[in-house]
Amino acid sequence: MDSVRKGLRSGDIEKDTYERLTCAACGEQLGTKNDPDELNTIRFCPSCDREWKKVG
Ligand SMILES: [Zn+2]
Repeated sequence: MDSVRKGLRSGDIEKDTYERLTCAACGEQLGTKNDPDELNTIRFCPSCDREWKKVG
């Protein structure tokens, strides 16, 4: 799974005018969930189910 930072850098994730993360492909605002097996927060697109982990 890519990190949010990498997703932003590669253009898979964009920020809207309110600095919210959105999926570049769908234009959907990313949701948030916590992975119990990891310490990271997962950001996901509810439309295409792509996921990115938020590091730190
Ligand atoms: Zn998407």
